[in-house]
Parts: sequence; C-alpha cells; structure tokens
Amino acid sequence: MKDQFPDFRLGSVLATSFTATLKERQGDSVELIPTPQRLVDWLVINGLAVNACTSAQLELAWELRESIHAAATATAIGNALPATAIQVINDCSIKGQAAAILSLDGKRQWHLRSASCVEDALSVIAADAISIIAGERDGKLALCASPTCQAAFFDTSQSRTRKWCDMNTCGNRQKKARFNANHRKNGNSAI
Ligand SMILES: [Zn+2]
Repeated sequence: MKDQFPDFRLGSVLATSFTATLKERQGDSVELIPTPQRLVDWLVINGLAVNACTSAQLELAWELRESIHAAATATAIGNALPATAIQVINDCSIKGQAAAILSLDGKRQWHLRSASCVEDALSVIAADAISIIAGERDGKLALCASPTCQAAFFDTSQSRTRKWCDMNTCGNRQKKARFNANHRKNGNSAI
C-alpha cells in the first residue's frame, strides 16, 4: 500500500520536515500526507508514534502545516507574522499534552497521552515551529531558491547561505538546469 505514495523528505528540523510534506508548493504540488494513514506513517518516522488518525485530525494537521509554512515564510522574508496562522500554531501548542522523556540511552523521546492523540503529536510540531520562528535556535529561516518550490527551511550552515531546501532534489535539479542551459549556450545540443 505504502508504495503507491511518494517517499517522505526527512530533515533534521521537525517543523520544516512537516511543511515539506507538501512538495513543489509553487509548481505542480505533491501532497505527501493525503490520507490519515500517511500522517500516522510520517508521525511514527518522526518519533511521534500514534497508531490511528481520523479525517478531522488530518485536516487539523494540514491547517497547522500551512500555518507554519505561512509564518515561517513571513519570517524568512521579513514580513509581519500572519495573525491567523499564529493563532492556529498557538492553539495546537496549547491543546497538546506531550511530555519530553529521557530514554536510558540518553535520547529525548515524546510521551503522548495515548496512541490516538494526534493532537499531542501536533503540539510538539507547533512548539518546534515556535522555537525556530522566535529565533531561539541557532539557524535562520530562508526560502528555497527553486521557483517551483520556495519552501521555508531552517539554514544551520555556518555562513547561512544555503540556497535549497534539499540538496538531493531542488539543489540537483537547479544544477542540472544550469548545466543544460550552459550547454545550449555553447551550441552543444547533444543533451
Ligand atoms: Zn526546495
């Protein structure tokens, strides 16, 4: 069943990995969590294990995701934060009761009230978004340079000059496009 869906694009920042579940936002967008089960799959992979999700919870997840995207984009380009989006992020953060716990091998894990409490999982994502939008973490929000993507990502490179949300997809595609354009300019039509 899972094979019929495109793979997730996983990053090290929870909030922007979440917003990346809608790919190619400015082009032919691809929804990576089109069903409640796909949201369950994504949450499990990201350390927020739930075993069930309703359609209403999926809709809430989409609403949170788009709100984080809007707020992160505004921050990246220096615009005022959108009030409605901030309200959604705050509501999701307040309503969840996830607790950080420490495993015996020293890793942080999340304890949710129950395995069907998607709201608790969403509150962890909302809190993660708050920490990067508020500038509490070492890094800078930026927008992907690919015109069909423009995803907000969290740049933790030392020079803060990362251009693409993901080197393996947007970065490579841009490189190839540049390469092809250069070849055409040089009269090499063999590619
Ligand atoms: Zn991108």
